[in-house]
Amino acid sequence: MNEIGRTRERLKRLEEEARAELCAAQGETHLQAVRAKYIGRKGLLTNFLREIRNLPAEERPALGQLANQLKTALEEAAEQALTEERERQKAKQLLREGVDISLPGRKPSLGKAHLITQVTQEIVAIFERLGFEVSEGPEVELDYYNFEALNFPQDHPARDMQDTFYFSPNVVLRTHTSPVQVRTMEKRKPPLRVIAPGRVYRHDSDPTHSPMFHQVEGFVVDHGVTFADLKGTLTFFVHQLFGPGVKMRFRPSFFPFTEPSAEVDIQCVICQGQGCPVCKKSGWLEILGSGMIDPEVFRFVGYDAEEFTGFAFGLGVERIAMLQVRLNDIRLFYENNLQFLKQF
Ligand SMILES: [Zn+2]
Repeated sequence: MNEIGRTRERLKRLEEEARAELCAAQGETHLQAVRAKYIGRKGLLTNFLREIRNLPAEERPALGQLANQLKTALEEAAEQALTEERERQKAKQLLREGVDISLPGRKPSLGKAHLITQVTQEIVAIFERLGFEVSEGPEVELDYYNFEALNFPQDHPARDMQDTFYFSPNVVLRTHTSPVQVRTMEKRKPPLRVIAPGRVYRHDSDPTHSPMFHQVEGFVVDHGVTFADLKGTLTFFVHQLFGPGVKMRFRPSFFPFTEPSAEVDIQCVICQGQGCPVCKKSGWLEILGSGMIDPEVFRFVGYDAEEFTGFAFGLGVERIAMLQVRLNDIRLFYENNLQFLKQF
């Protein structure tokens, strides 16, 4: 075999080896390495092209052409192998990151009203069905509205019943929602049927007392309002809230701004009146304070106590909520533990 024949043989083997290696290569890096090995700047075929100038002049054109054709063919083969490899990788990635549109979606976490808000709304809704309207007043309140006009004179011992936060001798954080009564009556004339929910503050903190808590105050003023109206209204309310079967009783009590006054007890919802730690073995739970509005309060707002009578009542929202969900520590409402609050 002459020189040309041997060179052709050499090129043919080179091509076979190159194609076999491209075929066997795993992954893009490997493919690039095979390409570099044959047709890179220091590749086998590139070196061969450089050596051609050492061959006899008459053989150079034919062999040069042959080697160049082979180089082009191998470049195409390498490029095709690389393209195929990239497509395979892309398909794999799509499969890995693909979205299964048949899976159910993730629900966004929606907030909801705090239990205290829910119970307040429930209480207010019951009174709205009886024709009461909602009114609100300031939480930072004048001593006059919080005490004086509700018939708590200075130095009255009843002031000690409420552990008051004072800003100054005349300005307090309201200790109850009753000031809304005075503010509303000052501005308007009877008939009035008003419910006033809101935050109140007392210097007190233990498992059943929080320095900030919620009350709902209600009152009715009109011609000829009697204690029977008070009983009828509160009985309707208790039966709506705790069910028509629940037993209740009115017990004489004292508040400076009502006369006569009564506290409302319901049969213990935990033990059904058998006696338990929640009702302190009595079988009864106190849930409301109430009474006929004292004529002295009417005098402060300029109503004629001979012409009008009225009743008022107040209740603690936390107390009701604790009974409804059987909770024994008021502080849980305000620890902002979402896991706890979400269950209601
Ligand atoms: Zn009980």
